[in-house]
Amino acid sequence: MKLGVDIDGVIADMADPIFKRWGYPLNPHVYSLYETYPNIERESIDRLMGNSTFYEEMLPVSGARWALNILHQDWEIYYATARPHSTKRATRRWLYKYNFPNYNNLHFVHSPQQRLSKAQLLIECDCNYLIDDIPYDDLDDDYDLDDIPF
Ligand SMILES: [Mg+2]
Repeated sequence: MKLGVDIDGVIADMADPIFKRWGYPLNPHVYSLYETYPNIERESIDRLMGNSTFYEEMLPVSGARWALNILHQDWEIYYATARPHSTKRATRRWLYKYNFPNYNNLHFVHSPQQRLSKAQLLIECDCNYLIDDIPYDDLDDDYDLDDIPF
């Protein structure tokens, strides 16, 4: 069986690096950084999202590594992220550094070749379930909830 796992907000804690930079807490109920931080220019947010160092500063969410290593006894883990494709090396390095299982099963929804939702991407990988902190699909509202259990 295969399990899809989102990275940011699920196994990687982005709240602390954001707080250090901007001094604002992350709102766990608002999924768009543009909406969470209306006072910060979109250009600054985009620049941060493309900065590999930002992702390397993140710490694992408490218990995430433990849980995935337990699940890995029976499940193959697939990571899916909406991070910019340019952060691929940093993201893989982070997964390896913190001992996440199957760290090479890393998939970017916005690759140079395609733009897919996480659910679409993980269906292509034959994943049975997806763990995500966003309860909807930004590309297709109907697709994910019908076709892959969140
Ligand atoms: Mg997320």
